[in-house]
Amino acid sequence: KSKETGRNALRFFDPGMQRAVMERAALEAGLREAIREGQFVLHYQAQVAGAGRITGAEALLRWRHPQRGMVAPGDFIPLAEETGLILPLGNWVLRGACAQLAAWAARPQMAPLSIAVNVSAKQFREPDFVATVLAVLAETGANPHRLKLELTESLLVDNVQDIIEKMQALKAKGVGFALDDFGTGYSSLSYLKRLPLDQLKIDQSFVRDVLVDPNDAAIARTIVALAQSLGLGVIAEGVETRTQRDFLAGFGCHAYQGYYFSRPLPLEAFEAYAAQPSACPI
Ligand code: C2E
Ligand code: MG
Ligand code: MG
Ligand code: MG
Repeated sequence: KSKETGRNALRFFDPGMQRAVMERAALEAGLREAIREGQFVLHYQAQVAGAGRITGAEALLRWRHPQRGMVAPGDFIPLAEETGLILPLGNWVLRGACAQLAAWAARPQMAPLSIAVNVSAKQFREPDFVATVLAVLAETGANPHRLKLELTESLLVDNVQDIIEKMQALKAKGVGFALDDFGTGYSSLSYLKRLPLDQLKIDQSFVRDVLVDPNDAAIARTIVALAQSLGLGVIAEGVETRTQRDFLAGFGCHAYQGYYFSRPLPLEAFEAYAAQPSACPI
C-alpha cells in the first residue's frame, strides 16, 4: 500500500467527512431534481421609502422541498454556486421576476414597483450575461427601468473594466444596480467610484445592533455619507424595529427593508400588503 492510498483510505473512513460528502451529494442531486421539477418559488420583501411608501420588492428564492418544507437560500445557494447550478437557477429567478414586472405593469397599484434580483458573481461573470438579461426582458416584456440587479462585492476580484462594461450595457437599457451586503466584503473605495451603481445596501449586520454598538452605528452612518457624496441611493437591510428606522433616518437613510415593514412574502400576500394604503408602519 502506498502512503497515498493510506491517506485516502483514512480520509474515506473518517465518518464525519463521509457524512458530509454524502449530504453534499444528496443536496446536489436534490437541487438538480428541484430545477427539473420546478420546486422553487420567489418570495417578495417590500422595500420602503421614507414616507412609508413601498417602492418595490426584493425577490428572494425559496426551495419548496417535498420532504424538508421551505428551504432558505443560505442552505443551498453556496452549493448551487459551487456546482454551477446557480446559472439555470439564476436565470429562472430573473425570468420569474421579469414576468412578474410585466404582470404588474397592467395593474395601476403595482405598476410603479421595482423588483430587485440577486445576481451571483458566477452568473454575472458569464460572457453572455448581458445578452441573457436583455433576452429575458424582451421575452417577458418587462420594463427594464423596474428591474434592479443586486451585485455583491465578491464580484470585484474580477477585471473591473469588464464589470463596468457589462453594467453600462444594461444601464443603457434602464436596468438599475445595487451593491448588496455593502461593508462586509473587500471592495476598495476607488472601485466604488468607478462602478455605475445606483444604490448601496447597508448590510443587516450593521443594522442589527445599530442602537447599541457605536461601531456599527459609525459604519452605517459612514455608508450613508459615502453614498450621498458619490450621488448614490442607500437602503438599510434588516430593519426590525421602529427605533432602528428612526435612528437610521436621523443620519439621512430614508429607504429600508426589513421585518419591521414586512417579511419576505409569497406573491399573493405581498400584493395584498402592497395594496393597502397604510401598509407601512412609519
Ligand atoms: P440578501 O440578498 O442580503 O437578502 C436579504 C436577506 O435578509 C434575506 O434572507 C431576508 O429574508 C433577510 N432579511 C430581510 N429583512 C430582515 C430582518 O429584518 N431581519 C433579519 N434577521 N433578516 C432579514 P434570505 O431570503 O434567507 O436570503 C439570504 C441570501 O440568499 C440573500 O441575502 C442572497 O444573498 C441570497 N439569495 C436569495 N435569493 C437569491 C437568488 O435568487 N439568487 C442569488 N444568487 N442569491 C439569492
Ligand atoms: Mg439581496
Ligand atoms: Mg443583503
Ligand atoms: Mg446577505
